[in-house]
Amino acid sequence: MAASSAIQIPTRLPLLLTHESVLLPGSTMRTSVDSPRNMQLVRSRLLKGTSLRSTIIGVIPNTSDPTSDCDDLPNLHRIGTAALAVQVVGSNWPKPHYTLLVTGLCRFQILQLLKEKPYPIAEVQQLDRLEQFTNGHKSEEELGELSEQFYKYAVQLVEMLDMSVPAVAKLRRLLDNLPREALPDILTSIIRTTNQEKLQILDAVRLEERFKMTIPLLVRQIEGLKLLQKTRKSKQDDDKRVVAIRPNRRISHGSITEDEEEEEDHDDVVMLEKKIRTSSMSEQALKVCLKEIKRLKKMPQSMPEYALTRNYLELMVELPWNKSTKDRLEIRAARIVLDNDHYAMEKLKKRVLEYLAVRQLKNNLKGPILCFVGPPGVGKTSVGRSIAKTLGREFHRIALGGVCDQSDIRGHRRTYVGSMPGRIINGLKTVGVNNPVFLLDEVDKLAKSLQGDPAAALLEVLDPEQNHSFTDHYLNVAFDLSQVLFIATANTTATIPPALLDRMEVIQVPGYTQEEKIEIAHRHLIPKQLEQHGLTPQQIQIPQVTTLGIITRYTREAGVRALDRKLGAICRAVAVKVAEGQHKEAKPDRAEVGEGEDCKEHVTEDAKPESISDTADLALPPEMPILIDFHALKDILGPPMYDMEVSERLNQPGVAIGLAWTPLGGEIMFVEASRMDGEGQLTLTGQLGDVMKESAHLAISWLRSNAKRYQLTNASGSFDLLDNTDIHLHFPAGAVTKDGPSAGVTIVTCLASLFSGRLVCSDVAMTGEITLRGLVLPVGGIKDKVLAAHRAGLKRIIIPQRNEKDLEEIAVHVRQDLTFVLAGCLDEVLNAAFDGGFAVKARLEHLNSKL
Ligand code: ADP
Repeated sequence: MAASSAIQIPTRLPLLLTHESVLLPGSTMRTSVDSPRNMQLVRSRLLKGTSLRSTIIGVIPNTSDPTSDCDDLPNLHRIGTAALAVQVVGSNWPKPHYTLLVTGLCRFQILQLLKEKPYPIAEVQQLDRLEQFTNGHKSEEELGELSEQFYKYAVQLVEMLDMSVPAVAKLRRLLDNLPREALPDILTSIIRTTNQEKLQILDAVRLEERFKMTIPLLVRQIEGLKLLQKTRKSKQDDDKRVVAIRPNRRISHGSITEDEEEEEDHDDVVMLEKKIRTSSMSEQALKVCLKEIKRLKKMPQSMPEYALTRNYLELMVELPWNKSTKDRLEIRAARIVLDNDHYAMEKLKKRVLEYLAVRQLKNNLKGPILCFVGPPGVGKTSVGRSIAKTLGREFHRIALGGVCDQSDIRGHRRTYVGSMPGRIINGLKTVGVNNPVFLLDEVDKLAKSLQGDPAAALLEVLDPEQNHSFTDHYLNVAFDLSQVLFIATANTTATIPPALLDRMEVIQVPGYTQEEKIEIAHRHLIPKQLEQHGLTPQQIQIPQVTTLGIITRYTREAGVRALDRKLGAICRAVAVKVAEGQHKEAKPDRAEVGEGEDCKEHVTEDAKPESISDTADLALPPEMPILIDFHALKDILGPPMYDMEVSERLNQPGVAIGLAWTPLGGEIMFVEASRMDGEGQLTLTGQLGDVMKESAHLAISWLRSNAKRYQLTNASGSFDLLDNTDIHLHFPAGAVTKDGPSAGVTIVTCLASLFSGRLVCSDVAMTGEITLRGLVLPVGGIKDKVLAAHRAGLKRIIIPQRNEKDLEEIAVHVRQDLTFVLAGCLDEVLNAAFDGGFAVKARLEHLNSKL
């Protein structure tokens, strides 16, 4: 070998014992170093040494079991390869180790072991020398003939490979340029050989012997290739790469399994290319993919980029470029599906049908994106699912809550480690068609961060003018999203970025009334729960009064999610009972026991899961159907969580009930006030926003200026209400931030009650903004607020006069249960809030709902 002739290796070499493979002169190998001896060598010799000499080590193939490589030095193989350490990479994972890249220089023989610890050092003799070949023992002709024969086989082998691959072309040139003596070693490390065979070549110190031993190996490889080409003629071109693409690759294991593995890999790439060519991707995408597959073919599989490129190509093939489901849009059928799946929600269903009708007539998607806004659990997601069902499209939900990185939407560039496509492209891959219904859940909970604004990325996705060429960073080619039907959901529009809101048509989905909830429970939730728990109506019976009990005493929500969960809990408890009953019935002696009313009582009482296990043996087979009454409810769900606390809390002056709107629906809100000696200060607690604080100041000012008219006095009888008096106003549920002007009337009523010493009626709730002159201004969210009051069992509701139109949206049966007072000024509010009116000259205006 030319290089080895120029190098005189040191006579003393540190020895690296390798277990995995055999290094031959002229080839390069990557080896993992983790035994203490080898680690020591790397640390003290390679990492500390500064001269070129110190990077030359002796690599000894140590074929014994690496696990038994303990303290004592094993019997060393006498012949090794002197090597140049080219690169050392350290890592601590999964355990401390180094990866060493070494290039073989020449053979050496161990003369004498000089040192064993901490790593072996030996006196060595260099074996491969140029003079040795030229002054060989054999006559030149004989050797020349051998080497000529070898050369021919080598050329034959290389020429069977794909010359368009640069590595193959280079190898071909090397065959001519390298000295013949170096070829056996180099070719042995390239072609497929076992470690044992390599070891034999290493041991073949004499050149003639080496040539003789390698020729059969070459012939074997050539025959193998021929066979391969014969069996897979169609894939001939690619087969040529089997050897060529990995000239320096480490081949470590038994050749048979590796053969199979490699062929498999190779088949995959061919398949991949075929798939790319037959897929219906856009022209631009096809161009990119073909370029990538060309690169992939030339890439050694060990390169990290190989896996990246392959993943990329696999994704490209999997994407539904042209695959779509056929829309079956029939408005009458759509109406039936929507009605069957959802009770109530008339307004929403009407708007959805309009939207679908326009789609049917126009057959084009360029319209606004529907955005359902409402409290949780009112069926926004489930309507989205029904829309997909009516259209016969695939449905995919993309949860956007908490997404703060725009790469989540648009993907990471492929240069990043662990890069992947965004959620839109991922979703398309999951559904496998290009026209699914995508539900963008919780668009109001997108967040901004240093990683960019995901809302801005969503704009591009949702804009019909732009989304036909949406470019995900990972794909880096445009994908047409114009066939995707996007629907968004949100709890509130307040936090949706304005630009995004602008592209959407908001449809409000308000909370449900108690009656609606009962209907939903009996038509949809209970049958669903029964099915999920394997129960039948013959086994469990939940009367409507029980459902009402759950709604009023165990849940307080605008939607039906908690109700659904409670029903689930009941079904679970009953399932245990039923299963136990079946078990008991299987035992004849127990089967007849316990019939009649007593038994039912027993069952319902015992339906609590804990008690079931305790009393399992005593339990009697239940009488079917198991009736869920209030006793059973208490056993299963525990004591009621919400009692009708309203009247209790209003049993002293200085408390009034307001109505608030939150993203989770309407809520009733208590306002409490107390007074004490002081200097006229107003304290406000309960996490109030600025607007609410201002309302409180307005209320006090108005009451002070009207104190005489209403005969309001402070503790010492003075009409100056703040004289020597401090006032404290508190809005319970102090952990929740509250803001908005609509508590104005409630604060006035609460303070009026405090200063007059009279109780506010316990069934009255109110909402409305106030002015300094005592007018009541309209506010928003009336429907949700009224529903909240209805839920809480209140009877009279004071709302601003100008909100009268909003009452039309409220279901008739709710309106019938309530009395509405439409107030234009604070006099009217106070008159309605206190039994028997408030002022002497009160103008009573109790309005029964006329609607
Ligand atoms: P949201 O998306 O508004 O938070 P979901 O769509 O997840 O709520 O609804 C929660 C559950 O309530 C679902 O199981 C849904 O089927 C059910 N549900 C809600 N509203 C209705 C309705 N009007 N009719 C039937 N089921 C409903």
